[in-house]
Amino acid sequence: MLARFNKAADMLRLSQEERHRLSRPAKQILLNFSITLDNGSEKNFEGYRVIHSTVLGPSKGGIRYDTEVNIDEVKALAAWMTWKSALVGIPFGGAKGGINCDPSKLSRTELEKLTRAYTQALADTFGPHKDVPAPDLGTGPDEMGWLMDEFSLLHGKIIHAVVTGKHLYAGGSLGRVEATGRGVSIITLLALDKLKKRSTTTTVAIQGFGNVGLHTALFLWEQGVKVVAVSDVSAALFNADGIDIPDLIAYAGRNDRSIYGYYHAYPILHNELLTLPVDVLIPAARENVITAANAAAIKAGIIVEAANGPTSADADKILREKQIFVVPDILANAGGVIVSYFEWLQNVKNETWNILEVNSKLEEILEKSFREVYATARNSNDSLRDAAYLLAVKRVASAQQAPDN
Ligand code: GLU
Repeated sequence: MLARFNKAADMLRLSQEERHRLSRPAKQILLNFSITLDNGSEKNFEGYRVIHSTVLGPSKGGIRYDTEVNIDEVKALAAWMTWKSALVGIPFGGAKGGINCDPSKLSRTELEKLTRAYTQALADTFGPHKDVPAPDLGTGPDEMGWLMDEFSLLHGKIIHAVVTGKHLYAGGSLGRVEATGRGVSIITLLALDKLKKRSTTTTVAIQGFGNVGLHTALFLWEQGVKVVAVSDVSAALFNADGIDIPDLIAYAGRNDRSIYGYYHAYPILHNELLTLPVDVLIPAARENVITAANAAAIKAGIIVEAANGPTSADADKILREKQIFVVPDILANAGGVIVSYFEWLQNVKNETWNILEVNSKLEEILEKSFREVYATARNSNDSLRDAAYLLAVKRVASAQQAPDN
C-alpha cells in the first residue's frame, strides 16, 4: 500500500508532513476479549479496527474473520478503503476491522457471541456518521445483522445505518450481496471492450469462489464469457470449453460450498490457474498471490483485481514490462462499497430502492470511474494503478488542505 501511495505522493509533490498525515491511520484499536464456547470453556480473541481516514466522510470498511488477520494487514486494508471510496467519488473515508479466528471452526452461536462482543467493545467507535462496517472475508449478512442488533440494543433504538451488507429484512439493500462481483464483471467487460478483445471466444480464469469470485463468474458467464478455470481452497478446476457456472454453483451448494469433486471439469494445481493462457485473470481471493516469483509466467493479457491487494508491489514492474493491462483493486472491486453507500443512503433517508435503480447507479459510477482512470493513465503514460492512486490521493489531499477542514 505504501509503495503505491508514495509513488502518487511523489507525482503530487506532497510534503513529508502531508505524506504522514495521509498515509498513517487516524486511529488504531487493538482489542482483547473472550467469549464462552459451546463446550463451556472460555476462549480469548484478538480483534482490530483501524480508522484510516475520515477526511471525505464517515470511515467505511469491512470486518474480516480469518486466521491470518493481524494489525498490519488491517492497516493496509483500511487505507485501501480510503483510496477506493475517494476514487469512485463516494463520501466515505476508510477503515477495516477483523478478528483473528477460524470461522469454520465456530458454531453459529459462537459466531454470534463473537460478533456481539466485538460490537460492544467498539460501541463508541461505530456509528452511522462515524464509522460504518461491512462484510469482508469470513463475514456476511448474518454477522452484520448481529452487529446492528447489538449496536441498537446498546443505544436503545434501531440504528440500521450503522452497518451495511445486512439481510434485506434487517434493512439491507437489494443487490448488495452480488455488488462486488457484479462490479468486477462490469469492469472486466469495459476493459475487454477498451482493448477490443471481447469476442465469443474470450476466456477467463478466476481464483476464488467465495461471494466475490462466485458472482463474478456468474455475471461473466451470463454475458457469454467463457470461464475456463475457477478455484477455491479445496480445488482448482479447468475446462477448455468453459465451465457451466450455474451448475457449479448448484454443486457447491450441495457440497458444503466447496467445488472439490465437481466432475464436469479437470482438477489442476492451484498455482497453474494463475499462469493459464487465458484472456483475463481475476484474482478474487487474498492479498499477494501475484508476486515477483510468478508474475513473469502470467499469460493473461488483462488482470482484473477482484481481491484487495492481490498483486505485490514488486510484481507491478514485471506486469508492466509484459504490457499486461492491470485493473487495480481500488477500481475493480469498488462495486461492494458503492452499493454499501446506496444501502447506507436508503437507511439514512428511510427509502427502498428497486434492483434496477441500484444496478444502474452502480454501473454509472463504475463506468465514469473507469473512464477517468483510463484517461489519466493515457495522458501521463502510467499504469492504471498509478493513475487510480493519483486521482484518489489527490482528492483526499485537496480535501484535507481545504480551508474549512
Ligand atoms: N469489504 C469490502 C471491500 O473491501 C466492502 C466494504 C464496504 O462495503 O464497506 O471493499
